[in-house]
Amino acid sequence: MIADKNLTEWKLEEKMRFQLDKLISDIVFWARSYYSGHPVVSDQYYDSRLALVRELAMEFSSLRDRVPADMLQIIFSKRWDSKSKGKHLLRVQSLSSFASVLEALNFLKSKLRLFSNCLFGIVVQPKIDGLTLVARFRYGKLVRLTTRGDGWKGEIIPLKRRDRINGIPSFVKTFKKYFMSEVRGEVYVSFEDFERVKKFFKKNVSLRNSAAGLLRREETRYPQELKNILSFIAYDVVILYSSKALPLLISQTALAEILKKSLFEFPVQNFFVLDLFKLYLAEKFILDLYSNLLNEVDFQMDGVVIKLNSSFLRARLNDLDSEKPKWATAFKKESDSAISRLLSIEQTVGRTGKISYLAKIVPIFILGSRIKSVSISSYSRLIQLSLLVGDKLKIVKSGGVIPFISQVFREREEGRYKKLVAQHNFFSTCLFCGWRLQVKMREQYCVNRNCKERVISEISHFLSSLKIRYFRKRTVRTLFDLGIIGNRFDIFGLEDQKERILNIPGMGKKKFDILFSEVERSKSKSLSYWLKSFSIPGLGEKKINELIKWSSKLQKKPLRFLDQLKKIIDHSGSRDIENIPLSLSKSLIVLKHFFNSQEGQLLISSLKKQGINALN
Ligand SMILES: [Zn+2]
Repeated sequence: MIADKNLTEWKLEEKMRFQLDKLISDIVFWARSYYSGHPVVSDQYYDSRLALVRELAMEFSSLRDRVPADMLQIIFSKRWDSKSKGKHLLRVQSLSSFASVLEALNFLKSKLRLFSNCLFGIVVQPKIDGLTLVARFRYGKLVRLTTRGDGWKGEIIPLKRRDRINGIPSFVKTFKKYFMSEVRGEVYVSFEDFERVKKFFKKNVSLRNSAAGLLRREETRYPQELKNILSFIAYDVVILYSSKALPLLISQTALAEILKKSLFEFPVQNFFVLDLFKLYLAEKFILDLYSNLLNEVDFQMDGVVIKLNSSFLRARLNDLDSEKPKWATAFKKESDSAISRLLSIEQTVGRTGKISYLAKIVPIFILGSRIKSVSISSYSRLIQLSLLVGDKLKIVKSGGVIPFISQVFREREEGRYKKLVAQHNFFSTCLFCGWRLQVKMREQYCVNRNCKERVISEISHFLSSLKIRYFRKRTVRTLFDLGIIGNRFDIFGLEDQKERILNIPGMGKKKFDILFSEVERSKSKSLSYWLKSFSIPGLGEKKINELIKWSSKLQKKPLRFLDQLKKIIDHSGSRDIENIPLSLSKSLIVLKHFFNSQEGQLLISSLKKQGINALN
């Protein structure tokens, strides 16, 4: 019985093999006659025979070897097999992109230096944040879809999935005369359709990843309601001229016309003339264009592409094999914000007793740096934001500045107001010393002169104004906790505490020596450093610089500032006082009060004892 069955199967297979070989040779013949302009069978008949080959090869796996490889690709690419790769006719390049328009233009300028006396026709297109796709045509007929891959070869996408994409025609008359041609473009999901995609995926998916996700999805699991949801925008054409592949040798503006005629979508394109000596004009033009495009396009755009219009120049720059083209570049706007969640709020006490807050957030990355806390500079800002733990926040970090909270997404929540009141009460005392905070000019202050946190901040500020950089706030805290330092002057007596300091874990002799030498060096710092280090309320760094500048101009003989100041302060009716600029009079009064105060006198006399040059 078993032998019989095998025999029958064998016979059947033999019969099929014969049929398949005949079919394949017919199809090859029909295709050849079709492409030479003399079709012998109808398109429908051709397609039905091709479908039969496909069925046979599917059913009898042993027959698959007999089917020509490129026919198989179409037949068996029903599943997306990431191992099946296809080589591109020409390397798919990636644009060199810059965070500023001027940088991008300078890139082009550097490539064009040989032609620097010319004016250049430039086209600007929106930069689509999508998935790069290469569509290959043979005698005008779509035969293959591939991803960009490494630029040389990409993954072969089942041809059937063309159904999911708008804007890839299955036949292009213009390319009929070429044995092989390739159209490069971007696949994307529009903003409008993205709402439907989000509903379908039921979880957070980015606009950019959704295009790839939808294309990769298996046929059986692909939702019918999302058919045709992807769009394709073409931007370049490569042709195989006899044996050499080259970009279609026409200008960008002509390319746009040809692609549109061939039923491809082409990005909106703006033409202008670039003068290499007037880049600022081009910069302004492009920036305006960029903001206009942002409002116009219905897809995610992350910048603009700037290209030379002339195909002659493109050919002259000869960059076909390089990774980045020389004839085109991009301005890419870097994303400078991210969404996070509030984990906790911490209180901090500044050197003047002013309270600020620190929002600890779920760590995020913005422009490559990891952010886990955001400073809330003042109490009034905290009130304004009315934050509660768990709130969703938008964090912005632009131009290298300190990250800040730009928006709070509040959900309607039962008892939110009560929680805010409780939080307000909690933050009305200093969490370090327990003193009730005073509110002056809508800001909170801990007025306890001995508040540990305040003193630590004061010492830290004192050290950093004197450029004693080795002393971090953490070190100050450790030394303070151990009672080695209790105020600013104690740092000048480190030598006496050497043994105790050396016993601190992580504090070796080498570290102590650096610390000691930095402190010694600070003694020769000029007066402006010392004034800044005093943390005098109402006297900021800017005012101190102004004061020093003014006082040095005041006398022909360089008199020491402190002496002058004393003169001014002691003889407040003198000519000098009349000459005080209005902008500095308040600062001088503040300084006068400070020098006359007990705290100021103690500070100056203690520092004098340490041998500070500037104060003697
Ligand atoms: Zn306090």
